[in-house]
Amino acid sequence: MVHLGHNKYNKHMKLPEETDYLIVGCGLFGSVLAERISCKLKKKVTIIDKRNHIGGNCYSTIDQETGIEYHQYGTHIFHTNSQEVFRYVSQFTQFNGYYHQVLTTHKNKVYQLPINLETINSFFNVNLKPFEVKAFIEKKVKAIPQPKNLEEKAISLVGEELYEAFIKGYTQKQWNKDPKELPATIINRLPVRFNYDESYFNNGRYQGIPKEGYTAIFQQMLDHPLITTILECDYFEIKDSITVKEKTIYTGPIDRYFEFQLGRLDWRSIRLERKIESVEDYQGTSVMNYADLKDKQTRIHEPRHLHPERSYQKEKTLLFYEYSESNINEPFYPINDDKNKELYRKYKELAMKEKNTLFGGRLGTYSYYDMDQVIAQALKVFDSLKA
Ligand code: UDP
Repeated sequence: MVHLGHNKYNKHMKLPEETDYLIVGCGLFGSVLAERISCKLKKKVTIIDKRNHIGGNCYSTIDQETGIEYHQYGTHIFHTNSQEVFRYVSQFTQFNGYYHQVLTTHKNKVYQLPINLETINSFFNVNLKPFEVKAFIEKKVKAIPQPKNLEEKAISLVGEELYEAFIKGYTQKQWNKDPKELPATIINRLPVRFNYDESYFNNGRYQGIPKEGYTAIFQQMLDHPLITTILECDYFEIKDSITVKEKTIYTGPIDRYFEFQLGRLDWRSIRLERKIESVEDYQGTSVMNYADLKDKQTRIHEPRHLHPERSYQKEKTLLFYEYSESNINEPFYPINDDKNKELYRKYKELAMKEKNTLFGGRLGTYSYYDMDQVIAQALKVFDSLKA
């Protein structure tokens, strides 16, 4: 296993006086473009990040006490249906065959997610067959022709009892908002199935965890003689000290770029609390959700399950309790309610006028993207640069 240091990148690297492309942010969007531009266009790229590591929120590292690799910003499962994206990312890693499954705890009992026939049978203590369940749920569902918010959408899909048990409390904890104030689209991420298919992702044709962890992918992408990577480097402090001959690619929060001149966009963040338990396996799965408000954490991550192919120590296991936070300094998730969507639209108008800067990634486009969507977006932007 490769241990991933950052010897090559640090804040003492000298900022070049000029570059063809300046990329702000060493996350997926920035790193994919750095790799493509250096390899294919043979242009000089300077990529910077204000954090002290590459990889953005995908960053993975080894816990010193247990030797277990974990994802510092919450569990990331790579999944996609796109052959193009899978082929691209497979140049930099093999995947370990991990298949994502999520469970949820409600009233001290564990259920399968996404809501499927097993969840329904177990929750209502029935034994329905796939051809019976639709009629059963339809009796519970309230017909709402055009659901205006997450609550209405969820009730129109699964009815009030399942909504109250598995969605309401979790969503409230996760977003720190009443589900009535949240857009219906968020729930589209969570499918409902009338069979025993418990795979978490609808678009999970290709899925897994990179064999050597996520950080190794970024090391490979950025390992090119035309790329200079500088960490602990704040764009707003250096932007006047470097001449950019072609374009700046900005992947930070879009409102920050424009100095919050139209106001601040709202973001949701998470806080992860590390815990060690003296057992080999604490919860039997990599992610356990907690549906009830009385449990303060939204979920518990147990990263050893992400790498079943590795032989980790048996004496201890590593856990992370996840709590939601609104921390504008660590933006993770955009809050896509009407107010924020409208504000983003205005920032986007400003962004369109910036002829020498391209905006991308979750933060740069205020979008709740999965990793594969960010890669697809970056590859598309690269095609337009080439053209
Ligand atoms: N969700 C829920 N109960 C769960 C898991 C998810 O109600 O146990 C809903 C919730 O509204 C959440 C959305 O589905 O915001 C997306 O959840 P997901 O687990 O995909 O979020 P992510 O992994 O991106 O944080």
